[in-house]
Amino acid sequence: MSIKQRSMAQMIKSFSRVLATLLVTASLVSTAFAEGAKDNMPMGRTATAIVDGKYPASYFPNTELLGADEMRITALGTGMPNQTRAAVSISYLVELGNGDKFLFDLGSGMLANLFSLRPDFSKLDKVFASHLHVDHVGDLMAFHIGSWLSGRYTPLKVYGPSGSTPALGTASFVKHMQEGYAWDIATRSGALPDAGGKIEVTEFDYMQENQVVYQGNGVTIRSWPAIHSLDGAVSYGVEWNGLKYVFGGDTYPNSWYMKYAKGADVASHEAFLPPKTLAAYFGWDLGQATYVSTRIHTEPQAFGKVMSQIKPRLAVGYHSVQSPENNAAIMDGVRKTYDGPLALARDLMVINVTKEQIKVRMANVDEYVLPPDVTMAYKKAARTNKKQVSAKVAAGKWKGYTPPPMPKR
Ligand SMILES: [Zn+2]
Ligand SMILES: [Zn+2]
Repeated sequence: MSIKQRSMAQMIKSFSRVLATLLVTASLVSTAFAEGAKDNMPMGRTATAIVDGKYPASYFPNTELLGADEMRITALGTGMPNQTRAAVSISYLVELGNGDKFLFDLGSGMLANLFSLRPDFSKLDKVFASHLHVDHVGDLMAFHIGSWLSGRYTPLKVYGPSGSTPALGTASFVKHMQEGYAWDIATRSGALPDAGGKIEVTEFDYMQENQVVYQGNGVTIRSWPAIHSLDGAVSYGVEWNGLKYVFGGDTYPNSWYMKYAKGADVASHEAFLPPKTLAAYFGWDLGQATYVSTRIHTEPQAFGKVMSQIKPRLAVGYHSVQSPENNAAIMDGVRKTYDGPLALARDLMVINVTKEQIKVRMANVDEYVLPPDVTMAYKKAARTNKKQVSAKVAAGKWKGYTPPPMPKR
């Protein structure tokens, strides 16, 4: 065998070894992702596995397979009712390695951030409301209609607290939202999947302490009371696969959170602007700012105190606008009382959680990203009603225009 032949033989040998390794890796990877965990991928996108816990510096939606044991938390809105383009109102998306996805709050403005991720809307049918302020539920109907248009063909399930009277509870809120949007829903019914137009509400007692409000597929979601403005605000804990994420909602520091959020992997809690910064930012007088920041909400030093007690693997503060000045003021306050792992949430911040590590990154999205593709199941889902405008309105059609013929089906 000549040197040339020998090196060729070696090359073939090492190539087949690499190929064998690749095949083994591929089979390991495919077994590590359950069938149900696979998302409907937008055309042209292929997700790949994260190897050895090494994540790209930015999160590019629909390019990473979520590990079978992994949780991904995405902040869709972290701001205030008085919004900026960089900080819309509160919403969090929680995705699990078993394929389940949950939304916590749907604050106004969150929908564009959610769409920018091009999610599989057929899986986004479970929403948990912390309380009924507009900066937490203002996009409920926008999400309901938007997701129904974009792949959701099953009823939207809304979980939320009761209030001190039935009129102040989640069921009443959703019923009146649907009634208010009766015209919108009627225009789309029939053209879109029938079941997707429905909303099913589960209203639970806001005073229950760490009681299960949702259970299924290995996931348990519990609620406990929060202290915020009026009776009826709650916090949630999501437990799955030995991991725990706590969504605080809005709350004054409270003993339930101290008890039930203790030791969470990721504990999110509001970290409001401190009084002086709040007064300067919104032009409020210091009295009003002090009341709102320290009586209705949780100022940064109080947030730090809470986190130094419950000691999560990662503390997440939110509910402010992250201007450079505001950010410095919040950080300054938090670090007076807490020196542990911390992320001040911004819109489209992504947190990957495994038993081994917690990775915080920003999502990289496009301003003009298209809506996601829909599944075959969505296309085939039952659609019944036919509707049209009345004869008296139809008679007003301008005769000077004739639309092109409908394409053959
Ligand atoms: Zn609130
Ligand atoms: Zn709020």
